Amino acid sequence: MPLRIALLGIGKIARDQHLPALAASRNAAVDGIANYPDLQSLLKAVPDLDCVSICTPPQAHFDAALLALRAGCHVMLEKPPAATTRQIGLLAEEAARQGRTLFQTWHSRFAAAVDAARDWLATRELTGAKIVWKEDVHQWHPGQRWIWEPGGFGVFDPGINALSVLTEVLAHEVHVERALLEFPENQQAPIAARLLLRTLPGVEVEVEFDFRQQGEQRWDIELQTTTGMARLRHGGGSLEIDGRPVMPGEGLAGEYPRLYERFAALCAAGRSEVDVRPFQLVADAFMIGERRLVAPHEI
Ligand code: NAP
Repeated sequence: MPLRIALLGIGKIARDQHLPALAASRNAAVDGIANYPDLQSLLKAVPDLDCVSICTPPQAHFDAALLALRAGCHVMLEKPPAATTRQIGLLAEEAARQGRTLFQTWHSRFAAAVDAARDWLATRELTGAKIVWKEDVHQWHPGQRWIWEPGGFGVFDPGINALSVLTEVLAHEVHVERALLEFPENQQAPIAARLLLRTLPGVEVEVEFDFRQQGEQRWDIELQTTTGMARLRHGGGSLEIDGRPVMPGEGLAGEYPRLYERFAALCAAGRSEVDVRPFQLVADAFMIGERRLVAPHEI
């Protein structure tokens, strides 16, 4: 059964990934798409809409998702899931009440090498892990004000992708033991963060997030075990084992078609998928983090 879908928030990610992924899907019709100024007018004009995919900044997710679910639509949500952890819990409850699908996405979990890394680790004993997620904010988030506002999460906007992959590949749960957040003195959100996470069996995971990276951009997760070391690179797109590349990278391009396939399958099965753990780790880092003021940042 084809589903009628609307996108809310036609910004960078909607144009770069969502629209091409939908356009490439079977039986897609995206030429001459109707446009509406807001979700209320869209829902009024298209009463038989099946799905809404929300690609706005996280501060706008809760109201939009609640409205769409109450109008009887299935909802797919970009990451980070919402502005607060309670909001995403309430959305999950609303989806269940309405009998609709809520797919709270973590696009990096759909990167090409993530499943292979999880399977490799499943038969090994982890002894340490390190996340290095360092990018140039001017290159990847040009002119985006919302990322620096309260609820925009600053460097945790990309950093949460690393935590979504980590929680997917580790066999054990992790929690935040220490956090140091660096806030530009003229902004409301951190530009860099260092975290110490610990797994339930006691293994340390060092985390470095930084928005000031020049030169090589890095989205790497290193997993050390008693029997070898794996390095997920390019945001989960490629995998090296003991220094040897075992899976080549493919970038963001493959992630979004796989996300929409999963969304269609969840809608067909009448199921939701919500995993708040990466978001809880971010919230906990804000809750216990030491705060340091650093040089101003101009957007
Ligand atoms: P963006 O370029 O700033 O686009 C955001 C879009 O949402 C704009 O069209 C904006 O409209 C709209 N919007 C903002 N507030 C709204 C509201 N209250 N109601 C309706 N629409 C609203 O941001 P983006 O980079 O696409 O990021 C959006 C989300 O995708 C974020 O949660 C981000 O983490 C996630 N994401 C981004 C990337 C990436 O590479 N950029 C990758 C993966 C995921 P106006 O322009 O009219 O304000």
